[in-house]
Amino acid sequence: MAVQLEMVSPFKVLWHRDKVAGFLAGAAIFPVTLELGLTTACNLCCPDCPSRRGQPGLFLPPETARRLFVLCRGRTFGVILSGGEPTLHPGFGQVLAMAREHEFRDVTVISNGSRLDCDEVAGPLLRHASVVRVSLYDWPGEKPPGLSPTLKRIERLRRAIDQSGSPLQIGVSLLTRGIGRRQLSLAASVVRAAGAHWLYLHPTCVSTPRGSARIQGQERLLTALESFRRDQPPGFAVHYLKQRFSSNPLVFNGYHAAHFVMVVGADGANYLSSETKYQPRYRIAVAADYVRRDLFSDPPRRAAIAAVRSGNYPAGGGRNRGVLYSQVLEEIRRASTGKEAPALPDFLLPHIL
Ligand code: SF4
Repeated sequence: MAVQLEMVSPFKVLWHRDKVAGFLAGAAIFPVTLELGLTTACNLCCPDCPSRRGQPGLFLPPETARRLFVLCRGRTFGVILSGGEPTLHPGFGQVLAMAREHEFRDVTVISNGSRLDCDEVAGPLLRHASVVRVSLYDWPGEKPPGLSPTLKRIERLRRAIDQSGSPLQIGVSLLTRGIGRRQLSLAASVVRAAGAHWLYLHPTCVSTPRGSARIQGQERLLTALESFRRDQPPGFAVHYLKQRFSSNPLVFNGYHAAHFVMVVGADGANYLSSETKYQPRYRIAVAADYVRRDLFSDPPRRAAIAAVRSGNYPAGGGRNRGVLYSQVLEEIRRASTGKEAPALPDFLLPHIL
């Protein structure tokens, strides 16, 4: 039986052994992944939308994306295009094509799926993207079987993949608040029926006065998730980051993940993390800096990353991936004293952290 590769894990960052070795040696490293918020615009209005923190209607200039691609060419191989809703960006196809021209290997788009059936969206996805991860906000829940509008668009896109031979994969992400084992099975079966390749489950978080926090109760799902994942038929996978569901304390001295994932908002600025995007306090570089080959060794940028610790980081309650990577990197830094990072198995989309 074929072994299903992991896609998400806090240890995925360690797969990048050269970069981890550079980090442990205190050297500047190019990021593994560029995460570009193409726009703050969206055609939905979800409660607790993280993009609301940005000024409405921002669109990342394609020239800024190009500058980043030139800066990172041959050193960084993963790019995530997110939003707002990135497919609303008039240069969506252009930025996707540019990413491929600049040798990015894993190209992921995170979308609400509302425009998957537009030619100007589906065409570039089929030609240039590795994955489109669709956030499913209209899944049918307990209602009688049938595909929601988003699932119908996924079904059409899957047909186009099969007809064109495109390597594009479709992932669906689902928030787990209020979901039990029975609803999980139902969600997996409708998502599979629509033609998606995998389902990604992540906990629902809310904004709090201090930052963000996971809504309580979802940790109960954790025990069911492993067997649920094993129960899936061949050709369909379920992924989740189990540490996001746990409550173990996280300790890091320096938000090390920011060296490995470079998060850029639609205003062109580089922020510490996805969860602090558009917060001026966590802005660590600006678009004008992207022409500098020495950006990643810039002392103020490195100092800003080093200054963020678990004890003073209000956005840590959502246990986003950057927090988890920072803890793993912290642990290996403490244990390493010059040793190499341990070897790890391969991952799906290895350049997407
Ligand atoms: S689809 Fe995403 S970007 Fe749009 S409102 Fe919802 S959470 Fe925000």
